[in-house]
Amino acid sequence: MSDSATAGGLDAFIAGLPKAELHVHHVGSASPRIVAELAARHPDSAVPADPAALADYFSFRDFAHFIEVYLSVVDLIRDAEDVRLLTFEVARDMARQNVRYAELTVTPYSSTRRGIPEREFMAAIEDARKAAEAELGVMMRWCFDIPGEAGLASAEETARLAVDLRPDGLVSFGLGGPEIGVPRPQFKPYFDRARAAGLHSVPHAGETTGPETVWDALRELGAERIGHGTSAAADPRLLDHLAEHRIPLEVCPTSNIATRAVATLEEHPIRRMVEAGVLVTVNSDDPPMFGTDLNTEYAVAARLLELDHVGVAGLAKNAVEASFLDAPGKARLAAEIDAYAAAWR
Ligand SMILES: [Zn+2]
Repeated sequence: MSDSATAGGLDAFIAGLPKAELHVHHVGSASPRIVAELAARHPDSAVPADPAALADYFSFRDFAHFIEVYLSVVDLIRDAEDVRLLTFEVARDMARQNVRYAELTVTPYSSTRRGIPEREFMAAIEDARKAAEAELGVMMRWCFDIPGEAGLASAEETARLAVDLRPDGLVSFGLGGPEIGVPRPQFKPYFDRARAAGLHSVPHAGETTGPETVWDALRELGAERIGHGTSAAADPRLLDHLAEHRIPLEVCPTSNIATRAVATLEEHPIRRMVEAGVLVTVNSDDPPMFGTDLNTEYAVAARLLELDHVGVAGLAKNAVEASFLDAPGKARLAAEIDAYAAAWR
C-alpha cells in the first residue's frame, strides 16, 4: 500500500472511531452552519446569516480578529432558545464525527451577565443534553468555567451557579481565558467551593505561560486534569509528576498553532509528553474557529506520534480513561472502541 493510501485508510478509521472529547468550548464549537441559524434569529447582528458569506467571515486575519469574531458569536446567544439551539446543534456536529461522549466547557457567566435568566439557561442546556443523548446518541457533560479575564466577580458568579444551581450534567469546574496577568492561585477559594460540592477540577494551565502555572493549578486549584499543559514539556520533573499521579493533559494541537502557543506542529511537544508516560488526550478546543474538528486533531496526533490504527484507538481510550464518566460508562465506551478496532480491515 502506498503512503497516501495508508493515510487515507487511517482517516477513514478515525472518522468511524467512537470517540470522547474532553476539551471543547460551547460557544467556540459554533460552526458556520450553527452561526447562520443563530444570525437568522437575530437579523440586527453584524454576523452574516448566509453560509457562504460566513465561511469568509470565519477566515481569521490574526488572533485579534479571531477574538473579534468569537465575541460577535457570543453576542448571538441572547436568550434561552439560542442556548438550547447552540447546544443541541453542537451535539449534532459531534455525532457526525462519531463523538459519543463530550465534556463541554460552558461559560454560564457570559450568558447570565447578558441577561439570560440563570434557571432558563440551565434548563436550556439540560434540555439539549437529554435530546442529544436520546436523538443523536451523544452523551454530554458540563464543565462550568471561569472566564479568567473577567476577574473575581466572574469567579464568584460561576462558583455560585455551579454549586447552587448544579444541573444534572455538571461534572467539573474550570478556568479559561488568558493566563498572562491572570495568576491561578487567586481562584483557589472558588475551586475549593466547587470541589467541596463534588465537582472535578480542570483548569486551563500552561497554554501561554510556563510550567509554573501548571504547578499552581495542581497545588492551588487541585487540578485533576490540565487544559492544554503545553509548557509542562519544558519541566521534566513536572512531566514525571503528571505521569506518576495519572493527571491527564488535554492536548489541542491545532489550537496551539492558531494561538501561537506553539510555532509549528512539528515543534509540538505532544511526543515528549507521551514518551514521559503522561496520559495524553487529543481535543479540538474551539474547532470551527481554528478550522479543525476532532477527527482532524486525531489525524494530526497520529502523524506527530507515528501511530497506526491500533495506536489511534489507544488515544481514543485515553480520553475515556481521563473522562469523568462513571465506571460502567467508561467500560462500555472502551469496549465499543476495542470492537471497532478489532473489526477494522
Ligand atoms: Zn480551551
